[in-house]
Amino acid sequence: MKKQKKPETRQQTRLFINELVTFAILFATLGFVVYFFFNQSIYTNIDQGLRGQERQILRNTPTPKMEHRTASSVTDPKAKRSPSASGPFRSNIIVFNSKGKIMNAAMLGERNYGLLKKAQLIKKNLNKVEDLSLTSDEITSHFRTILIKVPKSNSNPVYAGRYVMVMESIDADLMAINSFRSALMVTLIFFWVLAILISYLLSRWSMGPIITAWRKQRDFSANAAHELRTPLTVIQNQLEFLLTQPKSRIVDQVDEVSTALDEVRHMQTLTSRLLTLARSDSNVTQFNPQSVDLHPWFTDILRPYVEIANSQQKSFAANVTAEGKAQLDTDLIRQLLVILLDNAIKYTPENGRMGVDVTRVKDTVQIAVSDTGAGISDEDKPKVFDRFYRTDKSRNSKTGGNGLGLAIAQWVVQQHHGKLTIKDNQPTGAIFVASLAIK
Ligand code: ADP
Repeated sequence: MKKQKKPETRQQTRLFINELVTFAILFATLGFVVYFFFNQSIYTNIDQGLRGQERQILRNTPTPKMEHRTASSVTDPKAKRSPSASGPFRSNIIVFNSKGKIMNAAMLGERNYGLLKKAQLIKKNLNKVEDLSLTSDEITSHFRTILIKVPKSNSNPVYAGRYVMVMESIDADLMAINSFRSALMVTLIFFWVLAILISYLLSRWSMGPIITAWRKQRDFSANAAHELRTPLTVIQNQLEFLLTQPKSRIVDQVDEVSTALDEVRHMQTLTSRLLTLARSDSNVTQFNPQSVDLHPWFTDILRPYVEIANSQQKSFAANVTAEGKAQLDTDLIRQLLVILLDNAIKYTPENGRMGVDVTRVKDTVQIAVSDTGAGISDEDKPKVFDRFYRTDKSRNSKTGGNGLGLAIAQWVVQQHHGKLTIKDNQPTGAIFVASLAIK
């Protein structure tokens, strides 16, 4: 029993892992993209600020933004903005001569100069936006910088012919990026935990129908094999017995031969029904409706049953009142009638009565097959449509049924968008009513 469960559990685990990995990749990608764009937008803003200041210096006209943000604005030396206690001004400008000496030390402010004097002139970085880290008093400050060479023609004598480094402090931005990254990690971890739960529930939910189908398939194969084994055993026994009588003539062994033949017929019915059900399970369209003249068609089909019933000392009455034409799959409806009428004959005792009423009610054709047999209990009514279900349980019942007929009958009716129901006949017996939609 445990062994049978293993592939299902294994499949569920595989599904769970697949879903979990998919969620993890999705969340990680989402986190990476959000982080990338956040980073990008912050650096783009800073770099745009730097380029703006570069243009101002080359034009040498102070902008309101520059005046506000620059601590030691050379263009406005009187600008008074004291350095913050925790670090340098957000924007700074250092002027180097061609030998790398800082020329605007006085304007940088004493505290600022202590840090900014560590900046060096690296000529190969000309016109490039670079990251720069400077350390003073064990505190490291981070900057985004751009180095420009100001032409001698510049109207500002402090800049003219010198190298100017525009520096933007990015400590606050780095802090924002770091705290955003931490928040993002916490969020991602939360979503990953959520993904574990969702993947588990999803894998269970999606495995439900698969497990049911699996079990049905397994039971179906086991039952089919069992049903085939019984007639095969009977045929084998009969043939083995015949082999022990090599001198006897067929006429002397009629019983054995006819028993074997009965079992062959039984196997034929069984295999063709198994095939029908296997086809019904596949997605291939089985429904081929054609226009049928209801009254003559049903009358013709039902005619032989009068004789069959009479030969078994039972009576049969067909009452076809349905008129006009309708779209029906004639092969399937013939199969439906064979199943319902075979059952009616099988389960009705001698001197019993069977009847078929074919009526047309609006857009439906109703086929009611009644008998005066033992009937079907309320408990069994829904179960008799299950494959291999038989109310008598005994597989070697005299009726020779295999429990597949009504499963096929129900499928045929469903193909016609109809319903197959069972009612009690009075005083005894069953009435099977198939309502077929004919539009
Ligand atoms: P089977 O080949 O065994 O008849 P079916 O699927 O046609 O298989 O029927 C399933 C079971 O329903 C039967 O085994 C029988 O117990 C019950 N049944 C079907 N038709 C009748 C009927 N007309 N009267 C009483 N019982 C019936």
